[in-house]
Amino acid sequence: MSQTRDDNPLDLLRDDLRDFAGYKSARSDTRSGRVWLNANEAAWPSVADCDGAVRRYPDPQPAALRAALARLYGCAPEQLLAGRGSDEGIDLLVRAFCRPGGDAIAIAPPTFGMYAVSARLHGVRVVETPLRDGADGFSCDFDALAEAAEREGVKLVFVCSPGNPSGTLQPLAAIDALAQRLSGRALVVVDEAYLEFADGDSATTLLARRRNVAVLRTLSKAHALAAARIGSVIADAQVVAALQRCQAPYPLPTPCVNLALRALGEVPGNTTKARVATAMSERERLFQALRALPGVRRVYPSQANFLLARFDDAQAALDALLDAGVVVRDFRHAPGLGDALRISVGTPEQNSAVIEVLGRALRRDGVAA
Ligand SMILES: *Cc1c(COP(=O)(O)O)cnc(C)c1O
Repeated sequence: MSQTRDDNPLDLLRDDLRDFAGYKSARSDTRSGRVWLNANEAAWPSVADCDGAVRRYPDPQPAALRAALARLYGCAPEQLLAGRGSDEGIDLLVRAFCRPGGDAIAIAPPTFGMYAVSARLHGVRVVETPLRDGADGFSCDFDALAEAAEREGVKLVFVCSPGNPSGTLQPLAAIDALAQRLSGRALVVVDEAYLEFADGDSATTLLARRRNVAVLRTLSKAHALAAARIGSVIADAQVVAALQRCQAPYPLPTPCVNLALRALGEVPGNTTKARVATAMSERERLFQALRALPGVRRVYPSQANFLLARFDDAQAALDALLDAGVVVRDFRHAPGLGDALRISVGTPEQNSAVIEVLGRALRRDGVAA
């Protein structure tokens, strides 16, 4: 499809931020110097930092990290903004695109909680178009989502794919059509926190023809670096530049950046691939085992590293797991999920323990009843 004149995603930014330059940190001074006395840093390193790696403020967007992440996700470095987890990406998008007290975001619950949290903190309305719960699992009603977006002054539509907690991968063609329909009106944000565990392409492949798409990726799940807090927003280069102007001055701590570079520099990601492959086969084993248990109403198919399951007695399942020291996520508060727990895929031993504990508890329950 050809691009239309009104599809410049910069037109979707908040009016009052169009010419916003953001904070010019001392680190953004690119003149060449040998002696840097422009940021009031200490002249000598801390005892905890023998080689002085942490004495100075970090580069806001280290080129090596940006390049490594861009290579990992298959985009150009200038299309990628690194930040403190994809959680920061969500927050930046909401703040840059949505006018408080007027604009809205659209989400498809049950979904990741931070979209609504960021919106609420920023005074932005949340329009909900629930996922449909069908025979094949949850699916997104893209027409309803588009209609809601057109009706309600929505600037951002969040599509979580694979979904948390639904586990469903949304079809890229439908995301493409949604972005086309909302061109000039809203940005479609595709949260791919779990894409490494799925069988499908990234929505970054849409960026060449859909400038109103943004993709969130993270090192927190498949890459096993949750505490390093490194996530990425991948979008049109001009959108990325605009988001960077809204970002905190020094978002990426040097020790975290170095950790990420070490992990990403590893000969070609072998241990990550192995971890993901094991998680996927364990997911299948856990899926089959849970499905076979009495008292398990339903286990949803999952393209992520967790399973969402419904129980006749979710409290009994939760109690039995807790008694064995196993903590899973209770989703009974979520609309339509009053009997559901979300279980992360663990090591084979941990998964076996879950199966055994639930097997014992639910069979006993079944017999007692
Ligand atoms: C875990 C998760 C995130 C948060 O990732 P961080 O990069 O750790 O902030 C984002 N989106 C979804 C759907 C998640 O489940």
